[in-house]
Amino acid sequence: MKHLFTLILFTSFLGLTACMKGEHVDLIIHNANVHTMNDQNSVEDAIAIRDGKIVEVGPERQILNKYSADEYVDAQKKDVFPGFTDAHAHILSYARQQISVDLVGCKSYDEMLVRIEKYQSKHDRAFIIGRGWDQSLWKSGEMPTNERLNELFPDIPVCLFRIDGHACLANDYLIKKSNVIEKYHSDPELHNGGHYEKIVLEIGGGIAGWMTDEPSGVFVDNAMNPILDILPDFPESELVEAILSIQDELYSYGITGVHEAGMKQFEVQLFKKLIDQDQLKLNIYGMLLPTEDNIAFAEKNGIYEHENLYIRSFKVYGDGALGSRGAFLKQTYSDRHIHSGYLCTSVERMNEIADMCTRLGYQMNTHAIGDSTNRVMLDIYRDIHEVDPDHRWRIEHAQIVDPKDFDLFTEAGVFPSVQPTHAVSDQRWVESRIGEHRMEGAYAYKSLLERFGMLAIGTDFPVERTDPFLTIHAAVNRKNGEDIPGNGFLSSERISLEECLRGMTIWAATASFQEKQLGSLEEGKDATLVIFEQPVKANAKFSPNFAFSTYIKGKKVYSVE
Ligand SMILES: [Zn+2]
Repeated sequence: MKHLFTLILFTSFLGLTACMKGEHVDLIIHNANVHTMNDQNSVEDAIAIRDGKIVEVGPERQILNKYSADEYVDAQKKDVFPGFTDAHAHILSYARQQISVDLVGCKSYDEMLVRIEKYQSKHDRAFIIGRGWDQSLWKSGEMPTNERLNELFPDIPVCLFRIDGHACLANDYLIKKSNVIEKYHSDPELHNGGHYEKIVLEIGGGIAGWMTDEPSGVFVDNAMNPILDILPDFPESELVEAILSIQDELYSYGITGVHEAGMKQFEVQLFKKLIDQDQLKLNIYGMLLPTEDNIAFAEKNGIYEHENLYIRSFKVYGDGALGSRGAFLKQTYSDRHIHSGYLCTSVERMNEIADMCTRLGYQMNTHAIGDSTNRVMLDIYRDIHEVDPDHRWRIEHAQIVDPKDFDLFTEAGVFPSVQPTHAVSDQRWVESRIGEHRMEGAYAYKSLLERFGMLAIGTDFPVERTDPFLTIHAAVNRKNGEDIPGNGFLSSERISLEECLRGMTIWAATASFQEKQLGSLEEGKDATLVIFEQPVKANAKFSPNFAFSTYIKGKKVYSVE
């Protein structure tokens, strides 16, 4: 009996010294609401971090007793989440938008012209590039023409991109310089996968118009290519400055990763350079555009990993966008009866890319907005599903789906990648474009989630704002930042807060084959996380939230203080 007592005393003494010394870690974040986003969705108090990895997540006393750290952070009961990922966005377009004439939110053509003149008087560019106009915000709601642009800028090229990036307004000087009309008519790739708007002459009475053959200045999808071919890029130093300020903006929202939806090879090299200089720290999942040099890159490197840049996918443009009537619909547009959009990439070419992706172990991520494009892609993806049931090939946007085709997402194992803010931004005009009968399969995130079991969730910035809390509000309450509409847009398709958060964390990681490293706060994963200022909720009324501090691999990259 005496021996037993001594033994107990001895072991508890050992236990006590172990507690006092503790296993060494770099950082302990405690007194927190740690939303692990693990399978049980458990919430813990504290997290121990060493060498950028999570050592343990658990109750307050358990972590504080077991470890001793160089640094302790008292989170004051704030919410801690895995760093958010934007699963579909365009850092480089956003960077270029910041350097171009900013046309986002212009309420009229006049306002657009004022902004261009102001920009040009300051920058004096030899080629004026603007981004972000949206005719649906103007009184007429009609696509613009270039008449007044020609008057103001008769001898300098001007190219103004629509908010969706799928259309541009060019002045006559640029139309001539790029030879776009002649090229459009002689190249089937351009006229099969794009169109240009034509000048409509009023006949009188204001009812009917006479469509001429003359270009109005608006070029959509592939028809823009000859213009894009001669579009100069901004100096690298300007691009880098913009990229780094975007990184800071993302940190301030707790975003630590982006799926960059369509990269050129020189952009891959630019990101690599910024990573080597220790400047770009965001986790970047790169989708390559299927250009010649990108294909050569993928053939040479296979699945590519360089620090926080991971590349194993091709991004293909299936069709255009609804706003510029480039999305490919099964039936004609409700507000333009002779037009149903088009595929921007031929089925033959898509099949070639699919074969290449299969061979290289790459993912194919296809932009598909219209119900026809979605169907075409689901059929193509079905083949890969037979070879590899865990292929995770994605449809980006999956915006208008024929309800008859929903089950194909299950059958073909297709990962839906969606942007809830598109739903509440498009609510003003989408029904006039596609008609009431097609609304059932529009922005149907719940239906898609039910079929595949996961969603990858993003914003498509700069088409939408970077703020993930607008995404949450759109997904859960189906309202925009002004709380419109009051009862939610197509509200039967709302998803839960937890589902939305998963779409921005663990499901986004799964959609990019990074779930072993990212997406939840569990032992062995990267200590990439965010402490939020306010509790993460989905209130009926939009309430802004920001990161209090943001960590990537255990290092603080952002703090409000
Ligand atoms: Zn996009």
